Amino acid sequence: MKTEDIIKRAKRLSAPYRVTDGGSFRLRDIDPGGLLYFKEDGRERAAEALSFGVRALAELQELLYAQDEWAVLLIFQAMDAAGKDGAIQHVMSGVNPTGCQVYSFKAPSSEDLDHDYLWRSMKCLPERGRIGIFNRSYYEETLVVRVHPELLKRQKLPRVLADDEPWQGRFKDIRNFERYLTRNGTVIRKFYLHMSKEEQTRRLLERLDDPDLTWKFSPNDLSEREYWDAYMNAFEETIRRTATPHAPWYVVPADHKWFTRVVVAAAVVEALASLNLAFPKVSEQTLESFENARQILTRTDVREAREKDLVVPG
Ligand code: ATP
Ligand code: MG
Repeated sequence: MKTEDIIKRAKRLSAPYRVTDGGSFRLRDIDPGGLLYFKEDGRERAAEALSFGVRALAELQELLYAQDEWAVLLIFQAMDAAGKDGAIQHVMSGVNPTGCQVYSFKAPSSEDLDHDYLWRSMKCLPERGRIGIFNRSYYEETLVVRVHPELLKRQKLPRVLADDEPWQGRFKDIRNFERYLTRNGTVIRKFYLHMSKEEQTRRLLERLDDPDLTWKFSPNDLSEREYWDAYMNAFEETIRRTATPHAPWYVVPADHKWFTRVVVAAAVVEALASLNLAFPKVSEQTLESFENARQILTRTDVREAREKDLVVPG
């Protein structure tokens, strides 16, 4: 399939999950088990579509890198075991590692807590020409921190500024931050992998039952489940307040990992394709200097050949 056809399909596949104006967004409108036109038996077709997407992504990434103007920031948020790591691994499997940077954000360190909450993310933003991936991000600040207000207390904000309800301010600051990045050439796409609580039960049990997966199980995942509804509310409001045309959220059904991956790949292909990337044009002057280089190389070649002839015994 030609790249332009893959791009057209990618747009069609990712569009239903794209949120650019949060005003009317409701989490319950997205079915975590959704499969769009793939249906239950569409696994093989989805795998084929994913491989096309991965190939297109490799081509687009080469252009992004060569052009060296835009940076791409992909943000992944989800409940535990929703498949962030696997989605990142599969979708980026074809790209050149040199052009890609992945950062996983864990609980903030004491050095992080000595700064404003965007500080640690700023240091990890992708360079021009690169794709940067945030596995969790500053969005934890309106998710886990909102669900657990004691985390806010640890942030050492000056007492006169401390606010039990800083969320609207944070949404506004995040919107402004993303606006600023966009204006400076960073393209932002945000993914919330939307999994049902039942599917999480199944996956956590699988981690306990399968010796190859037990390393993935964390008792913390179990305690966070207690706050499921609070998390869903926090996700919904976060998406409602921070989805914009320049930094859209994709709310991707995550009960079927194979479907999640193909949608994420499609959204990333769509993002890169929207930039109309092209290899940089070489100026006339540079072309002239290249001609010079060609002559020097050819002359050296001829000379070296002659020298070699001289040393070849009679
Ligand atoms: P993941 O769960 O992303 O696959 P992991 O299991 O390897 O990663 P965890 O120890 O679960 O590692 O690390 C992520 C934890 O860090 C999550 O519980 C998350 O909520 C927390 N975290 C991330 N950013 C923040 C933040 N800004 N404030 C508080 N907690 C945070
Ligand atoms: Mg975890």
